[in-house]
Amino acid sequence: MDKKLVKAINDQITKELFSGYLYLSMAAYFEDRNLSGCSHWMKFQAKEELEHAMKFFGFLCDRGEKVELGAIDKPASTFKSIKDVFEQTLEHEKTVTASINNLYSMATKLEDNPSVVLLQWYINEQVEEEKNPTEILAKMQYIKEDSSAVILLDKELAKRA
Ligand code: MG
Repeated sequence: MDKKLVKAINDQITKELFSGYLYLSMAAYFEDRNLSGCSHWMKFQAKEELEHAMKFFGFLCDRGEKVELGAIDKPASTFKSIKDVFEQTLEHEKTVTASINNLYSMATKLEDNPSVVLLQWYINEQVEEEKNPTEILAKMQYIKEDSSAVILLDKELAKRA
């Protein structure tokens, strides 16, 4: 494989792991506020990010390339509100989408077809990753943070499976 692309995929592994780390930090914030449903949603999300990282990990190994893990930054640990958390989730996923799109362009230019096919999976996945927090934020428009509707939202997010 082209060394630039290998490096970029290795960097993406670190980014996916950072995403998981960030969502775990958000889960900790929700736990601290006794919002176990919101925490469940974030822990579920964190597990998905590990899967995203492992899919790239396996791909590089299958292609006979070396996985080189980078340092994971410290994630934010204080948030202003439930809404703030989901806004930051959406913003973060938009940066991940941009990063995946860059990888796809790179793979396309290099005519690395296995990478192109792999990245198509991630492109579809990012549609979902942006849709989920967007839907939660749309519902939150109707909710005041000190209202009982927050408990209902928390119950709904507890159902993520
Ligand atoms: Mg991801």
